[in-house]
Amino acid sequence: SMNATDVANWIRRAAELVAADTERLTRLDAAIGDGDHGHNLDRGLRAAVAALPDDAPPGRTLIAAGRAIVSKTGGASGPLYGTALRRAGKALGDTADIDAAALGTALRAALEGVQDLGKAEEGDKTMVDAFAPAATAYDAALADGADLAGCARAAADAAARGAEATVPMQARKGRASYLGPRSVGHMDPGACSTGLVLRALAETVE
Ligand code: ADP
Ligand code: MG
Ligand code: MG
Repeated sequence: SMNATDVANWIRRAAELVAADTERLTRLDAAIGDGDHGHNLDRGLRAAVAALPDDAPPGRTLIAAGRAIVSKTGGASGPLYGTALRRAGKALGDTADIDAAALGTALRAALEGVQDLGKAEEGDKTMVDAFAPAATAYDAALADGADLAGCARAAADAAARGAEATVPMQARKGRASYLGPRSVGHMDPGACSTGLVLRALAETVE
């Protein structure tokens, strides 16, 4: 299970992985967008780490991180990631100890938040193409009896595969959609970063 410290460590680990891959994310966004995704998310996650509360239940911690991301991250991805974290936090309520089922419910709520706001479906070449298969893989692992760490690993692996699968897609949402067929042949930067955030989760609970 996960407690408030584990959740804070997840956000810290996500910030580390994004900081290490900032240039890669920015290069991906330079190919099909405006070349700022790495820096947007790096700034947002640094703000999220700075905003982590000292003594709050896991849900409150995620809500605080999400608010910081919304206020500090430019671009489309800030409100989307911020909404995801806030929705996940709300879904957890005041639970002190998150079990595998509760984390699955929170991930699903986060994905729904992203889709409510951004209206993207799978296949539109966005972060949804990493997040949706991750949520599905999480639920499948849970149904197979996996523990929280096993479910998180399944989600991270599915997100990485989902990000790879965006390469041949043509973008239908976000800035990359302005390129039409020229968006084909590049990985979506937001799908790539979603893979990193879920990798950070899996590493934190392993
Ligand atoms: P901007 O495009 O405003 O510069 P970023 O570069 O930070 O913002 O983020 C771009 C990423 O945001 C894309 O790679 C994509 O994954 C994600 N994105 C953009 N629009 C949407 C949307 N409507 N739904 C889901 N994700 C989206
Ligand atoms: Mg951009
Ligand atoms: Mg931008």
